[in-house]
Amino acid sequence: MTSPEGARMDAAGGTAAGDRPRISVQEVSKVFQVGAEDFVALDRVSLDIADNEFVTVVGPSGCGKSTMMNILAGLEEPTSGAALVNGQAVHGPGPERGVIFQQYALFPWLTVRQNVEFGLRTAGMGKKERRERAEHFIHLVQLDRFADALPKMLSGGMKQRCAIARAYAVDPSILLMDEPFGALDALTRVKLQEQLLETWSAEQRTVMFITHDVDEAVFLANRVIVMAARPGRIFDVIDVDLPYPRHEDVRLSPEFGALRNRVWHSVYHQDAGTSASAMPSTTTARQ
Ligand code: ADP
Ligand code: MG
Repeated sequence: MTSPEGARMDAAGGTAAGDRPRISVQEVSKVFQVGAEDFVALDRVSLDIADNEFVTVVGPSGCGKSTMMNILAGLEEPTSGAALVNGQAVHGPGPERGVIFQQYALFPWLTVRQNVEFGLRTAGMGKKERRERAEHFIHLVQLDRFADALPKMLSGGMKQRCAIARAYAVDPSILLMDEPFGALDALTRVKLQEQLLETWSAEQRTVMFITHDVDEAVFLANRVIVMAARPGRIFDVIDVDLPYPRHEDVRLSPEFGALRNRVWHSVYHQDAGTSASAMPSTTTARQ
């Protein structure tokens, strides 16, 4: 079994020497009081994420994925350890961090355009600039034809694209996404994954994307962090050395299949205690 210490060391890597990581989770523990009991949701989790890196976090339900993201979003405080963004400890939400949840958090009474402009308006941006900026991001997520539609007229996938455009519009350097495609059907999901990568390529951001879908984790990421539960911890870290842009051909490639198998093994055989790092790199591709 890969020792937790070993995994932590791996997880802290991934940044060029001397570069300050954009995100640094340092020995973060989170203990919830459940009745008279202490419940350890996160146990000394350490993770560095480099500027413009796309990291996915995958793991069984209850392993602390959302807790970690909420700490980075500034919605929860760690019990011990520190979460740093740009070298500063996080103690609340901030404009440099855009957060996207599974449930589309759009204002139902505002149109797509007004939703996308909302954060810009509250930031005091002038009407013309706001409008142009919103147009740009609405176009990027291909919602031009629906700019004046209310959320109730949009499909789930379109609502989520609108939420992505809104998060991008305020120009956060970091996107924290908690199972954003979890409620969508498989086909929409695959399309949105490709679109998210296109957007990420055009407008570089540091992304932490949580999912429990192994294919999604591998398809999107530079690096996949596998977590385990009881206590919530980093179990494994897998580099995804596949070229971008990624489309269907990548998904069907033997290299993708091998990586997917490694991550799958790590997620679903945690009780066996063997992390994917212990597997040979020439794992047979999925057929
Ligand atoms: P995941 O997102 O990986 O499914 P979570 O981070 O939501 O997991 O939760 C991790 C564990 O912490 C779960 O067992 C959950 O029940 C527990 N937990 C989360 N938030 C609280 C809370 N506010 N109070 C008590 N337990 C919590
Ligand atoms: Mg969760």
